[in-house]
Amino acid sequence: MSRYLLKSMEEARSCLKDRDISLFLDYDVTLTPVAGRPEDARLSFQMKELVRMLAVSMPVAIVSGRGLADITSLVGIDGLAYAGNHGLEAVAPDFTMTYDIGRAAREELEGLVPALSELQERFKGVIFENKGVSHTVHYRLLGSRQFPLFKEGFDKAVAPALSRGRVRLAESKRAFEIRACVNWDKGRAILWMLERNRFRGTTPVFIGDDETDKDAYRALGPTGLSVHVGSEADEAAFHLIAQDEVKVFLKLLLDTHEAAC
Ligand SMILES: [Mg+2]
Repeated sequence: MSRYLLKSMEEARSCLKDRDISLFLDYDVTLTPVAGRPEDARLSFQMKELVRMLAVSMPVAIVSGRGLADITSLVGIDGLAYAGNHGLEAVAPDFTMTYDIGRAAREELEGLVPALSELQERFKGVIFENKGVSHTVHYRLLGSRQFPLFKEGFDKAVAPALSRGRVRLAESKRAFEIRACVNWDKGRAILWMLERNRFRGTTPVFIGDDETDKDAYRALGPTGLSVHVGSEADEAAFHLIAQDEVKVFLKLLLDTHEAAC
């Protein structure tokens, strides 16, 4: 079970002592507060400056479930590495990577577009995001009384594709995700990035908040330092209770790093 990070800073510091650190950060609900609509999740000025300053001292990657173009423009800091679609695509000044999900999975995702668009039309508060190599259907803004009817429509829309086994359903916070059945996730993408020049030989710190971030905690294991935002988590070494504590930890990380230099 994870330890509360702000009460375990000495332990965290000793894990990172005398190491070159790299920082891998989820975006939604890790760097930004919860937002009703995906486009409303904006980095605060202070958080953006903090990430920018950290990126001067250590290699930083943003690792998000959003599409790559979306996350790159939302964060808008030059020189970082960005991984989108839960790690299926990544870009940095010195590399690009696209994981091939295969034609069959691409066709399944494509085939779901009309039915998921129709659900968005039918239910006010449902937002369908076509991210190319995965889909997200957000229902945070849907009234709770509408949920059962929406869920029934959603299940009906995706059942045939799920039964063919090329795509699978994953749940995140008030959203359903339809992803290709591939052996690739945020954790594998981080391990892949750790083999690139800019990250090679560093000790990774990863901060996330959602189910898909647990793949990254598991992948890093004791070779890195993983932090789960929101509650205790079996898979992570540490946790923070509230999203605004991420800023506190990142400031401590920056101070610690600067003091060591
Ligand atoms: Mg998140």
